[in-house]
Amino acid sequence: MKRGFFMEITPYYQKSIECLHCKKQFKTTKVRSKFVKVDSYTSDFQPIYQNKEINPLLYNIFVCNHCGFSFTEEFSKYFAPGMNDEIQKKIANKWVPRSYGNERSIDDGINTYKLGIFCGTIKKEKSINIAGLALRTAWLYRLQQKHADERRFIGIARDRYADSYSSGDFSGTQMSETRVLYLIAELSRRIGDVEYAIRYFSKVIEKQSTSLEPKIVEMAKDRWQEIRDNKNKSASAYLCPDRQMGREGILSTPHPVATDA
Ligand SMILES: [Zn+2]
Repeated sequence: MKRGFFMEITPYYQKSIECLHCKKQFKTTKVRSKFVKVDSYTSDFQPIYQNKEINPLLYNIFVCNHCGFSFTEEFSKYFAPGMNDEIQKKIANKWVPRSYGNERSIDDGINTYKLGIFCGTIKKEKSINIAGLALRTAWLYRLQQKHADERRFIGIARDRYADSYSSGDFSGTQMSETRVLYLIAELSRRIGDVEYAIRYFSKVIEKQSTSLEPKIVEMAKDRWQEIRDNKNKSASAYLCPDRQMGREGILSTPHPVATDA
């Protein structure tokens, strides 16, 4: 922190947080909002920031350096009976004290999200929250162009969003039903699960008369059309006499490959 005589404003500041588990105080870094400008969003809502050097996504997880419990502002303050014992056993007793309180690299950020997912799963946080953490982990892997890891976390996020949709635990959060359905579809599309993608894009489109988010309904229509176009393209490939495509070729017809918007 450079906040000396000249009061230079840096993009980062430190904030004191109280650990939800051990109740001790620790410091975490945050990004000042005036340094965060979003240029655009990808089709799965990843924000593309104007300044590539400053990524506020890296600072969502608070990691207690005393006990290792890792959480976000969205975690509930409520701990079910016996939960603190379990966290003590599975997390705190195994924690090798280290701090994520300063500026974080992308690798640091990914580690903190994994800790958050682990702690949130043990604490039985809502599926909608775990899904959001997994999706952000995938976005960070995308920045590193680690495609296999990105897909793995897209898959985890898709499954948790599907759990959230069936349990309804997204209600009362910032995530609307339209958004949850859209994300289930879009993340399925990105991992090549086309049938699931079509089914859930259709659910979004069915809501067009009642949804308060017409933009997302339009996005769903666009994605759905893309899948249809891709299907037609690969279907006509079978019929093309120039292409030597045996039975094996047909069986291994690739799903439309996920592309970044
Ligand atoms: Zn703690």
